Amino acid sequence: MNTDTTVLISGAGIAGPSLAYWLARRGFTVTVVEQAPRLRDSGGAVDFRGVQLDVLRRMGILETVRAAETAMGAEVVIDAEGRPLVELPSEFFSGEVEIERGDLARILYDLTRDDVEYVFGDTVTSLTEAADGVDVTFGRGAPRRFGLVVGADGMHSVVRRLAFGDEADHRRDMGYCYAGFTGPNHLGLDHSGVIYNVPGRGVLVSSSRDTSRAGVGLVFAAPGLEYDRHDREQQKRIVAEAFAGAGWRTPELIALLEQADDLYFDTLSQIHLDSWSRGRTVLLGDAAWCAGPGGSGTGLAMIGAYILAGELALASGDFRTAFARYEEQVRPGARTGQKQAKGAGPFLAPPTAARIRRRNRVYRMLSSRLGAGLFRRMAAGAANAVPVKDYPEPVALAGRS
Ligand SMILES: Cc1cc2nc3c(=O)[nH]c(=O)nc-3n(C[C@H](O)[C@H](O)[C@H](O)COP(=O)(O)OP(=O)(O)OC[C@H]3O[C@@H](n4cnc5c(N)ncnc54)[C@H](O)[C@@H]3O)c2cc1C
Repeated sequence: MNTDTTVLISGAGIAGPSLAYWLARRGFTVTVVEQAPRLRDSGGAVDFRGVQLDVLRRMGILETVRAAETAMGAEVVIDAEGRPLVELPSEFFSGEVEIERGDLARILYDLTRDDVEYVFGDTVTSLTEAADGVDVTFGRGAPRRFGLVVGADGMHSVVRRLAFGDEADHRRDMGYCYAGFTGPNHLGLDHSGVIYNVPGRGVLVSSSRDTSRAGVGLVFAAPGLEYDRHDREQQKRIVAEAFAGAGWRTPELIALLEQADDLYFDTLSQIHLDSWSRGRTVLLGDAAWCAGPGGSGTGLAMIGAYILAGELALASGDFRTAFARYEEQVRPGARTGQKQAKGAGPFLAPPTAARIRRRNRVYRMLSSRLGAGLFRRMAAGAANAVPVKDYPEPVALAGRS
């Protein structure tokens, strides 16, 4: 049982602040520690479908999110001359509501900053579990004790490494890399996007809410790539080399990449764990079940946060039961997301010219009326894989046994 209602959350991305919101509302005292010196309010567009919208509504931010919607239109697959090959309706990539990840991160932070202690520029360095709490040391701050610790610190979670072991034991690389950044909208896109492919490489450019800027996503096959996660210049070189000779207007985009100060670079990888908790420590979001693009990662992280907080409040201090019930409910959705995102690399950047043509045929089929219905059912199935149940309100001070 747990009588200490303090919770440390590592990571102020999407999952961390979402959980902080629900825990604070349910009487917990929450600290969020974020490695970055300030909120990382960048990243590409993220979308919501089906019951995922229900969580936004329950958090009271659906209208705020709608007000910041990208209102993205169609995306067009083009050839090397820029000629359209297939047009994909907006719902294909943009769901029912789409928002820039950075705007969402900012909304969640603003929602919680008055009720939650945020510590930026620090990281957990050790976790020692005692009978009635977890002793935590930090890179910069003084050691502290918390009742519970949550790793919401993304694919490279430090909490997961400390409590569950090496990342290499849990990460499955899909043989592809993704680089995302923003730059001037030199293609003149207006609530629209283009997709260009050469074998093993995919270029996605779009511009929506702020049409002076464009978001660029570069996906490329990179099996076994070793790189330094903290060396931006090296990452830029890797991308420039991967896209050398790719044709179309790729050289202009690589020139923009040189100037970018918001590069997001990572392998397309998944995280697979047999269990998401160890004692008083639990994982949430990408730290627990990272799926990769197309895996409903953002919506599911927010649903998971709602359920984890709800179960902790309901269990009145019996965190083991709460963790088990949370995992039981969320795991089927995580599994569906991972299944769905498994082929993301070869789908976004097919490895051969024949595979590009085949992928374009699939796009054409999905953009037909018949295909759109099929796609809508598939996407809804994944988005609705975790039902959002009601938890009792008003909520008693949780954690009191
Ligand atoms: C800057 C950024 C850009 C992104 N862009 C895209 C994108 O374009 N497309 C896409 O599909 N997904 C993107 N993602 C991933 C996407 O946000 C997640 O898949 C999803 O929203 C689940 O969110 P999460 O909170 O679990 O993980 P994340 O959003 O990755 O958040 C994890 C947070 O933990 C922090 N953190 C990491 N290590 C530590 C540590 N040791 N101590 C404390 N804090 C730590 C990170 O800085 C980050 O703020 C991006 C993530 C980030 C951080």
